[in-house]
Amino acid sequence: KTTEAPARGFIGRLLGRREEKTVVRRTLDDDMLEQLEELLITADMGVDTSMRVTAAMAEGRYGKKLSVEEIKRLMAREIARIMEPVAKPMPLYAHRPQVVLVVGVNGSGKTTTIGKLASQFRAAGKSVVIAAGDTFRAAAVEQLQVWGERAGVPVLTAPEGTDPASLAFDALTKAKADGADLLMIDTAGRLQNRADLMEELAKIVRVIRKIDPDAPHNTLLVLDATTGQNAVSQVDTFQKLADVSGLVMTKLDGTAKGGVLVSLADKFGLPIHAIGVGEQIDDLAPFDPEEFAAALTG
Ligand code: GDP
Repeated sequence: KTTEAPARGFIGRLLGRREEKTVVRRTLDDDMLEQLEELLITADMGVDTSMRVTAAMAEGRYGKKLSVEEIKRLMAREIARIMEPVAKPMPLYAHRPQVVLVVGVNGSGKTTTIGKLASQFRAAGKSVVIAAGDTFRAAAVEQLQVWGERAGVPVLTAPEGTDPASLAFDALTKAKADGADLLMIDTAGRLQNRADLMEELAKIVRVIRKIDPDAPHNTLLVLDATTGQNAVSQVDTFQKLADVSGLVMTKLDGTAKGGVLVSLADKFGLPIHAIGVGEQIDDLAPFDPEEFAAALTG
């Protein structure tokens, strides 16, 4: 039943099988660099960022002969270098309640990520309240209630169709009265109707600022790794809809290796707070640039 094990990772595809990696040496010339660039583009890194990475690799090494292993390590190092400045956990403030607005398209993993984060904050001794702000999607509210139960965190809901801003206002009022450390507000993700969504998010912000002029303290954008380069336009769009302060990328446990994160880091420089690595409550990990780069160049 055993078939020949394919070379792991995309560098392997280009440069040969595992056992050849330390033996085969390649000249870092235009042809080689172009092939490497194409591989990076295939890995969702985008043209500009891919070119930047290969240019950095060639610096001082152009025309040199390198082993496959060395090329791989070099590439991982250049990628990690781009990612290091953005690897930052979500900042926690002494201010109570810290309001965290969570945005992203439907299906990106917002609900799941809120549940996972709530659980982590709880484990760190914080009291958390969740507001089910996607009041037009009954399934989303139910899903959030399930996550609230799992995380041991109350979820504030409102009847279907309630103005999300009104729920957000009530939730912040309650979170404040209860002395909660954090309030996480889920939002709708209907990008099909961008003008409506923009107005909805703007209204939530306007209304909660009546209670706390500094709210929201964080605006997290949740992105799905399997959407590839599409994530770039999502960041573009959501930056226009809300004042995005950080990113969470979900579904990095699957086949998607999240190469688009490199192009996001290069283009926007927004902090990457965490990555989703599964559907369970503990499947949210801090973003580790070196581990990520190593997995990407595998
Ligand atoms: P929302 O519509 O943005 O709230 O998205 P959900 O939180 O409902 O997630 C959509 C789907 O993606 C669900 O089936 C989740 O179980 C799944 N999901 C979310 N995050 C992850 C992750 O990190 N890894 C995997 N494998 N699945 C995830």
